[in-house]
Amino acid sequence: MNKTDDQIIHEAMGKCWHDFSLTKSFNGFPETFCAKCGQDYKDQWGGDLKSYTSNWADYGPMLEWAQKQEWWPAFKRWCFVKLGIRVDFIPDCLAILLSPSSGAPALAEFWKGKESRG
Ligand SMILES: [Zn+2]
Repeated sequence: MNKTDDQIIHEAMGKCWHDFSLTKSFNGFPETFCAKCGQDYKDQWGGDLKSYTSNWADYGPMLEWAQKQEWWPAFKRWCFVKLGIRVDFIPDCLAILLSPSSGAPALAEFWKGKESRG
């Protein structure tokens, strides 16, 4: 299954994109856990999966985090080469990074390339 841009970003941040498909029985009661990291579903409140591509509340903090990473300069170079966007040039930057629906897919695309390059 192809990962969504949201999942790619979430995992790039070192977080688990939970898969709550694991059920165990405790004292006769079924409990659900993440099959990847073992997180108990009831500790989640369903609130950990983010939508970086559509929700500013998720996208904004992610973008702030991204700008502090060592690969941010590489992302800026990638934007220029692949998208013709100069991230340090405010109008260009705003054109792509101001919107979750264009900024998040660009970051996901960059990370896909990063993963395949190792
Ligand atoms: Zn998990």
